[in-house]
Amino acid sequence: MLDDLSVQGPFLDELGEHALIDAIATGVVQQHSFVHKGIGDDCAVMEGRNGTLQLISTDTLVESVHFDRVYVPAEHLGYKAAMVNISDVHAMNGKAHSVLLSLSLPGRVRSAFLEDFMSGFHQACREHDIQLIGGDTTGSKHAIVIGVTVLGEVDPGKITYRSGAAPGQFVCVTGDLGAAYMGLLLLEREKQVFLQNTGVQPDFSGFQYVLGRQLKPHSTRSVVDALAQAGIVPGSMIDISDGLASELLHIAKASNCHIRIFEDKLPVDFETARAAELFSIEPTYAALHGGEDYELLFTVSPEDVSKVKQLPGVTVIGHVQEGTGLVDMVKAEGNVVERVERLGFQHFQDKS
Ligand code: ADP
Ligand code: MG
Repeated sequence: MLDDLSVQGPFLDELGEHALIDAIATGVVQQHSFVHKGIGDDCAVMEGRNGTLQLISTDTLVESVHFDRVYVPAEHLGYKAAMVNISDVHAMNGKAHSVLLSLSLPGRVRSAFLEDFMSGFHQACREHDIQLIGGDTTGSKHAIVIGVTVLGEVDPGKITYRSGAAPGQFVCVTGDLGAAYMGLLLLEREKQVFLQNTGVQPDFSGFQYVLGRQLKPHSTRSVVDALAQAGIVPGSMIDISDGLASELLHIAKASNCHIRIFEDKLPVDFETARAAELFSIEPTYAALHGGEDYELLFTVSPEDVSKVKQLPGVTVIGHVQEGTGLVDMVKAEGNVVERVERLGFQHFQDKS
């Protein structure tokens, strides 16, 4: 296709991913009454069967952008492709039941890749009782492109939007943060060593946990179940895909409030801290901006905070105040408050 150089306007890199999505959303004119939420949350929300709400989300993984076949085993890739979508359903406090899979594959890809990929994909589906109901398959010139659309459902009384945070609520995260990013840096480092000398085997000793967090995200389904059992409906919720800072800003903006977090409360695994030291990165930087944690970030009312503290793997990291969509962090040392900006991975280098 010819690029028309006479066309005016900024390049996508100057525009940024969020401005791009905003521009797309501006063109939406139809407003169906059965659509409860369109663009702007982890899933679209529509009226579903038997009084439930239907959740729908889609995500794409592109070779060389989201994964590198040099170090990502096909089975793990299949598992991860399913999990990153399922994660968006959990972020709405729902459960996934069906999935569509679109694959664009270059002819040079071996059939064993597809077998292994599907084995991982099916495993994730089995673990979550999800049926593969369709998809699409095409050729591709260079890159493998994986598109997954997931469908799920949630009771109307339990749905959690990004916009439900309110002053007085507490901010919680599940699991620990920054590990997947450290896993990625280790894999990238070993790839460079391997490319320079193909005889050298990768050395990941002592870093199995962070590696696993990068290659095979775990499920947050147990969190959704635990919240239901404890009778807690979070005020707001989002999954942590682009880094804690980015997701905090999503909630603060969608809820038009101010979020304050405390650096010394951020959950960071010891292995993550060790890897961060190796790469001369602050563990806090990894936790805030690393991305691909696929944990849940949510807010709860003060009445629920003691119950939430009893749940396994949940950490209270801050609170919600009156405000205008900003986030700050009280530093661990000194009485310093720092503005939290979005620095996580952005397609088209978002400046917004
Ligand atoms: P997530 O990180 O949870 O996958 P995204 O940041 O990718 O969410 O997307 C933010 C919102 O914008 C979502 O509601 C998504 O459905 C919507 N969106 C993203 N790209 C497009 C597009 N090309 N057309 C319409 N909606 C889009
Ligand atoms: Mg999401």
